[in-house]
Amino acid sequence: MFDLVIKNGLIIDGSGKPGFYGDLGIKGDRIDLVRPEIALPVHRIIDATGWVVAPGFIDTHSHSDAIALIDPNESSKIDQGVTTECVGNCGLSLAPVNREYLSHLQKYISPFLGGIPVNWDWETIGQYLDRIKNPSRNIVALVGHGTVRIAAMGLENRGPTSHELEKMKDLISESMNQGAFGLSSGLIYPPGVFAATDELIELCKTVAARGGFYATHIRGESDTLVEAVNEAIQVGQKSGVSVLISHHKAGGKKNWGKINKTLEMVERARAQGIDVHLDQYPYNAGSTTLGSILPPWVHEGGLDQTLERLKDPQVRTRIKKEMEQGIKGWENFVEFTGWEGIVIAFCEKEKELEGKSILQIANERNREPAETAFDILLEEAGKVVMVVYAMSEDDVRTVMKHPLVMIGTDGIPTSGKPHPRAYGTYPRILGKYVREEKIFSLEEAIRKMTSLPAQKLGLKDRGMIAEGMIADLVIFNPSTIREKSTYLNPQEKPEGIEYVLIGGSIVVERTRLLDSQKGQVIRKI
Ligand SMILES: [Zn+2]
Repeated sequence: MFDLVIKNGLIIDGSGKPGFYGDLGIKGDRIDLVRPEIALPVHRIIDATGWVVAPGFIDTHSHSDAIALIDPNESSKIDQGVTTECVGNCGLSLAPVNREYLSHLQKYISPFLGGIPVNWDWETIGQYLDRIKNPSRNIVALVGHGTVRIAAMGLENRGPTSHELEKMKDLISESMNQGAFGLSSGLIYPPGVFAATDELIELCKTVAARGGFYATHIRGESDTLVEAVNEAIQVGQKSGVSVLISHHKAGGKKNWGKINKTLEMVERARAQGIDVHLDQYPYNAGSTTLGSILPPWVHEGGLDQTLERLKDPQVRTRIKKEMEQGIKGWENFVEFTGWEGIVIAFCEKEKELEGKSILQIANERNREPAETAFDILLEEAGKVVMVVYAMSEDDVRTVMKHPLVMIGTDGIPTSGKPHPRAYGTYPRILGKYVREEKIFSLEEAIRKMTSLPAQKLGLKDRGMIAEGMIADLVIFNPSTIREKSTYLNPQEKPEGIEYVLIGGSIVVERTRLLDSQKGQVIRKI
């Protein structure tokens, strides 16, 4: 007797092989039988005629660290078919914590994660993961290099002493022993931006020894893209770690097309035995904190000092000059998008700024754009998120099609106008890029959302439809699926996701949320 049989669907098993029509029998939390037809007695049947049955999507790149605690039942992920998400990306995780530097970490990390929990009563990754109760989707965590570095040495702009390096390694080992899947870095953000390649290689040796992977927001995604990809490959080569290059793209018109070269570099690295992959979200605009437009030295010592500096007219003059002339190795957002390409997505106080570009606000205030941006950072105490229009649609397609690229949202579901990727990534690929533009097959798209990330993360019983696998599943209508979230109305639910199952339980039925407590925290063992 099965608990549930899904009948007559087009089963796309996640491997990339052609789909086939058949039935799935589920017992408890597992897929028990996959057959052309199952006629045994059953408690419940889902008739999937006309629909696709696929493994639940695995989001390799999420920033739901804080949301998983504040609102564990938040449903933006399961609404789009994601059953497992990986938090702790871009060097930012909520643990491990050193009490001495906790306020630095809290102030710094809050705008990246859409806020932070009020009761911060954990120090280790293990304790953090214990705090996540009945989440709506499964959660796996990375430990952030930035967080580890802050715990070991604060927001210092220098290399670590040998003692501090050991401390970082210990924290990474401890985090992985408690279930973290690896290390992430954010090398355009402080304190990642202060770290040299050797430091990352040393730390990744610890990660590699425990079978983890290294997800990296590389040191540059515009002028220095090629050098930055090279650094990521070098870290993989010299430490032996498995590398995942995050949200791959080329920012700034003059850098468009460089991804052809970087994809080739990754292919070459793999041919030499270095285990490198990439992930991507399907949009030609990115998003991060507005503070990221400032040169690295402005961030030294933490947010309070950054804001203090921004009050000084001489400092402002220096920053403006550097924005015009650039600093070697610095990701200069303003230079490659212009002020019209930087749009406020989220801020805490002056809500009417959301959705407007810095240029637009500057015109309204009758003030210089740079001065306007500094003013906003001060007015909002640094808690501002921006959307940056910087990429080419051709590049987005080229990256998406590449067989080594998997899908990750990089999403932060907040109020205001967050980047729509948090709500629409998966339906957008299946609707716009598969059905309408036909850039690749449905089978290939689903492989990039399921088995490929499962292999990278090391999730052995998820990401495929096969007998014995956990029944994390999504059933969607391939002729109607599409994202409805836009830059102006990001929080819209997608269309065409008919059912979502987590561990054999139905959590979404005909786009309606039934149960938002069926996920679990998955610890690396
Ligand atoms: Zn990032």
